[in-house]
Amino acid sequence: MDSDISVSPDDKGIDKLDKQPCPFCHTKNLTLMEKEVDIPYFGKTFIFGMQCTNCDYHKSDIEAAESKGPVKYSLDIDSEDDMNIRIIRSSEGTIKIPHITTISPGPNAEGFITNVEGIFSRVKSIIEATRENEEDKSARKKAKNLLKKIQKIMWGQEKSKLILEDPSGNSAIISDKAQKK
Ligand SMILES: [Zn+2]
Repeated sequence: MDSDISVSPDDKGIDKLDKQPCPFCHTKNLTLMEKEVDIPYFGKTFIFGMQCTNCDYHKSDIEAAESKGPVKYSLDIDSEDDMNIRIIRSSEGTIKIPHITTISPGPNAEGFITNVEGIFSRVKSIIEATRENEEDKSARKKAKNLLKKIQKIMWGQEKSKLILEDPSGNSAIISDKAQKK
């Protein structure tokens, strides 16, 4: 199931600016995109995207139309249904899954709109990719166990937690179950 909301050059109703200079390869093959979406319980939101057809550079980010101030959410994950909970993460948002991973903000961070399942799928593919290049046996085994743990969480067989912090307020967990601080 893919429930990511994103912006692509083929979308209808987006604002698009073609043939812009790319910050990396410096050719004029960069497309700037902006899409407006209305997210229930979050409000009007802009998705920004940049994509270079020459060097494949791409970046996306999220911004709420209404400024919300710094936010911190905490979500207890204990069932398969929790996989459907909507997650909005701007490039300034930090996602912490205790004992598993931290998705950090920064200049190369991507903003995205997804759900809990989408987050765990991302983490899984990162661990899978590092495991393939890992030569150390014990590190490979550790990665394997982590993948097992994530799969159990996704099936609702093991409990987990997701913490989301964003000083810009452009991130959110859309659920009554999430505790907002
Ligand atoms: Zn480029």
